[in-house]
Amino acid sequence: MNNPASIGLIGLGTMGTMLALNIAEKGFHIAVWNRTTTVTHEFKAEAGELASMITPTDTLADLVAAIKPPRSIILMVPAGPAVDDMIAALRPLLAPDDLIIDAGNALFHDTNRRSAEAEAHGPHFMGIGVSGGEEGARHGPAIMGGGLRSDWDRVAPVLDAIAAKYKGTPCANYMGPAGAGHFVKAVHNGIEYADMQMIAEVYGVMRDGMNMPPAEIAATFRAWNTGPLQSYLIEISAEVAAATDTHSGKPMLDMILDRAGQKGTGRWTVIEAQHLAAPIPAIEAAVMARNLSSRLDERIAGEAVFGAAPHPLNGALGLMRLEQAMIAGKILCYAQGFALISAASTAFNWPMPLPEIARVWREGCIIRSSMLNDMATALAEDPNRNLMLAPFFADHLKSTHTALRQTVAAGALHGLPVPALASGLSWFDMMRTGRSTANMIQAQRDFFGAHGFERVDGLPDKHGPWVGHGV
Ligand code: NDP
Repeated sequence: MNNPASIGLIGLGTMGTMLALNIAEKGFHIAVWNRTTTVTHEFKAEAGELASMITPTDTLADLVAAIKPPRSIILMVPAGPAVDDMIAALRPLLAPDDLIIDAGNALFHDTNRRSAEAEAHGPHFMGIGVSGGEEGARHGPAIMGGGLRSDWDRVAPVLDAIAAKYKGTPCANYMGPAGAGHFVKAVHNGIEYADMQMIAEVYGVMRDGMNMPPAEIAATFRAWNTGPLQSYLIEISAEVAAATDTHSGKPMLDMILDRAGQKGTGRWTVIEAQHLAAPIPAIEAAVMARNLSSRLDERIAGEAVFGAAPHPLNGALGLMRLEQAMIAGKILCYAQGFALISAASTAFNWPMPLPEIARVWREGCIIRSSMLNDMATALAEDPNRNLMLAPFFADHLKSTHTALRQTVAAGALHGLPVPALASGLSWFDMMRTGRSTANMIQAQRDFFGAHGFERVDGLPDKHGPWVGHGV
């Protein structure tokens, strides 16, 4: 029998195996358990030089016995009932001060419920968001923690050690109570959807509007990756655009069906934004675009009825403008995401640390980008100010929003769908309009429902002359 383990892990799938190896590599002895026992032993057998740091266990009781008290056990199983089942199975085996950590992509409402149940019945419970995919889990993910601060502090040495580092600073931090970590992870994923969608939209403008072959598109993304757009997503977009299909010898991108899936975190973010009245239209557009992409047959039928749009832009838009449009779109999408987190902080009474969130996202996660460091600085100056109003980003937007306008206009005129860029622009235009058109909405509401309105001159009269005429 090995020395008692510092930590346990349940669920040796894609993420669990990589996290367990990462933990072992950082010098923490780890005990593991998997529903299918053969997987547990194969994992140990294939762990190479890290095998001595890993204790495989066949039963949950063995797992619990293998960990040094007070125990911490990470769950890396599919979100939903599997998490509840594992908590129910572990509860009778654990002491009240042991800690279960759900590191999957749980809906934060579920994490809130599980945290409340833990408070009532023990053992302790935390929900942490982990981003970075398989590679991140193995070599350094971004980690967003939620639960009791004292529980976070207890496991922080392990989480800090395995997290990605930005110039030596761990990309792991405490986000707030209960479901705060999973909430921040969901917003991260929502931003990820919008960032990916905007890249796909400018790819579409280059492919269909500018008739550029994938190799040229790859070179463009590669060049953009040396400027303000430097990010993991632009970097991998260059790589996928440059790749060749080994079967056909054609560009890989041209061989991939244009039908995108989702696991739900983007949708959760959009639903929550609606509940909080904190609009995130660029993210909504990205979720909508994935849903429409899956309607392949209907889209083909649509093209048969209406004909293909007259795409060629004939020089109407240059690559520099497209890059600027992407810069503006990206800032607007992040501004929406951070505004949503700010609204949730107030509504849930969770003081979520906005600058820390930007810092945690600088490395390890899918949306890591050089812009996030500037966002952290801007949010540290004033976390309550919308990011688009921070001087650094306001200057960027002043110099790029015209290009965004030209891109969206060109898309509209030439039938190139750019829903996330267009939604970002509409949000920007509403957010920079001191006198909106909601006075018309208020008048209509008062006309048909006597809902009343506020007057610009402050007079107490709440109704228009039409009251009594409505239905
Ligand atoms: P996998 O499907 O690769 O692995 C799932 C693991 O959970 C397996 O070990 C499986 O065991 C176990 N499992 C499944 N159902 C149950 C159950 N009912 N009871 C007990 N164990 C069960 O999933 P991932 O590793 O990809 O994902 C795990 C979590 O991490 C999910 O919440 C996911 O959303 C999240 N996540 C995933 C990321 C990714 O890039 N893949 C990124 C960030 C988060 P068995 O071997 O017996 O089937």
